[in-house]
Amino acid sequence: MTDLSMAKKAGTAAFDVEAIRRDFPILDQQINGKPLVYLDNGASSQKPIAVLDAMDRYYREMHSNVHRGAHTLGDRATSAFEGAREKVRAFLNAGSTREIIWTRGTTEAINVVANGLAGRLKPGDEILVSHMEHHANIVPWQMVAERTGAKVVPIQITPQGELDLDSLNSLLGERTRVLALTHVSNVLGTVNPIAPLIEQAKAHGVITVIDGAQAVPHFQPDVQVLGCDFYVFSSHKLFGPTGVGVLYGKAQLLEEMPPFQGGGEMIERVSFERTTWNVLPYKFEAGTPPVAEAVGLGAAIDYLGDLDRNGMEAAENALLTRANELVESVPGMEIIGTASQKVPVMSFKIAGLHPSDIGTLLDQQGIAIRTGHHCAMPLMDFYGVPGTARASFAFYNTLEEVEQLFTALQKIQRLFA
Ligand code: PLP
Repeated sequence: MTDLSMAKKAGTAAFDVEAIRRDFPILDQQINGKPLVYLDNGASSQKPIAVLDAMDRYYREMHSNVHRGAHTLGDRATSAFEGAREKVRAFLNAGSTREIIWTRGTTEAINVVANGLAGRLKPGDEILVSHMEHHANIVPWQMVAERTGAKVVPIQITPQGELDLDSLNSLLGERTRVLALTHVSNVLGTVNPIAPLIEQAKAHGVITVIDGAQAVPHFQPDVQVLGCDFYVFSSHKLFGPTGVGVLYGKAQLLEEMPPFQGGGEMIERVSFERTTWNVLPYKFEAGTPPVAEAVGLGAAIDYLGDLDRNGMEAAENALLTRANELVESVPGMEIIGTASQKVPVMSFKIAGLHPSDIGTLLDQQGIAIRTGHHCAMPLMDFYGVPGTARASFAFYNTLEEVEQLFTALQKIQRLFA
């Protein structure tokens, strides 16, 4: 461990955001003549040098195909790849690496589960999702419902952007087979109280699928404590590379599910008479996997493990608190999503301004946010808006950046609203 990482872990200098920012070279640049203020972390977060170096080193020193066992490079690649799987297992506190499946991302992971559960669904069965889901946790279920005659039923939310627990209680019943719920809303930042809901679902014999894409960048879930059947996330939102994601599933359910894709790696034996499947987790990993990306994700998890997680959480809360304090300084600004438990994500609208214009005008000042429907059209319909502007913060953002955002919004409001 370096002096810096020891200091970060020990939290000696509180949470030293300036030191942390030096780990993220992309942040140190000008955009449109202004210092970059990157507030689009919900869409994809930036990568520390540790991740860039791990992938570079992998390609320079150990790349080969994995699980072939014929030569030294192949062994090195396999051990780096399987080592990364173990890091993910430890990150989620899963019981075994057999329960950690590599996917391309959250979207693919949910598709693997939806496809795998299709055989259990009959006409009239119900799949509960919430009104605040990303399309990735709606559309795969609609597709499987179409195939099986099951129905996708939305759980209502409150105007504050919290799950309506009465709605959930009234929907959870005889016909419910699956509860597919986001841990954290990508639009509202709401942290859903998934632990008691998983318990409640389990009491009804319902399979639980948790979309952790927006949760893992802010806190570390423990899948054994949560007791969920499936938990999924994408590397690129967790400060790792694009192209890889994770499906955690309970071994017994994964054993019972059919494979998602067919091809190499996922088989035990192939013949024209009968083909049999490989053991877990390989049964769900057809073809050459994203080896360098998995190694990069492993490095991102190590990097996060060296940070003072309490300091990180406090720093993120401070960003959101400051942002909330400044809302009044922009006439006509309204926050969408005011749940009591939130990660630092702020969706908003400003009277008289279209969200996409807000995005373009901020970009001219070097500030990157996301605008649009955020792949959550049913949620936009709920709020009666075509889209929102969304600033989503990460632990490397500063209070000064929050202030720069609001100074820019004040100017835009004055000039254009
Ligand atoms: N679920 C949530 C809550 C998300 O925010 C996202 C991405 O924005 C996804 C799923 C889809 O992730 P990916 O595009 O990495 O598969």
